[in-house]
Amino acid sequence: MGIAPDGFVVAESILVPAQSGKAIRVRSGTLVSVVDNEGAQVGDLFAISEDEPEEYLSPSHTRQMHRRLFPHLGEPLVTNRLRPILTRVADTSPGIHDMMFAACAPATYRVKFGVEGWHPSCEENFHLALKELGLEFGRIPDPVNVFQNSPVLEGTGGNLELRTAISAAGDRIVFRAEMDLIFVLTACSSDIAPTNGGKCKSLLIEVEQRT
Ligand SMILES: [Zn+2]
Repeated sequence: MGIAPDGFVVAESILVPAQSGKAIRVRSGTLVSVVDNEGAQVGDLFAISEDEPEEYLSPSHTRQMHRRLFPHLGEPLVTNRLRPILTRVADTSPGIHDMMFAACAPATYRVKFGVEGWHPSCEENFHLALKELGLEFGRIPDPVNVFQNSPVLEGTGGNLELRTAISAAGDRIVFRAEMDLIFVLTACSSDIAPTNGGKCKSLLIEVEQRT
């Protein structure tokens, strides 16, 4: 147990080791934090409805809903049916996150980075994390890439540049669950692109209860 800076008691703390993922069940109304445990580490966040497995957090629908690349604080992330699923209610990080990039996958490492053979990936870790709960999801939804620093470059007609995350150790995003859901977080496995500063690190999921 510990007290989060936003005044909520941490009921459960789950370490997501470097290059791995964790999935947990979260009830509607619960506050869940993602903590950048060591600094400059991107997390790929997914959420799937507990009651309707065909309904899940959808970055493209969220962009459509808010007509922005990323919602403001307090605006909900929505599902593929445009229903709120998670709302970012607090954020002690610089607030730089991404909703444009797919999760890294075996194909990413092969095609984009020329890696031969196996490399850990958010895609594989998404499926492994669900498997630990006895769940399967036939595909991988697009993620919300928390702490990912990949700005649109002005004057380029839309170029995206992958830069190292500027989040510091201990930076925290608090989400409120808007429905019963499966919350999946992977600590991004990329040690090639500069996203994680060349070193893959751990993240923390903290489930909070109101004091
Ligand atoms: Zn990744």
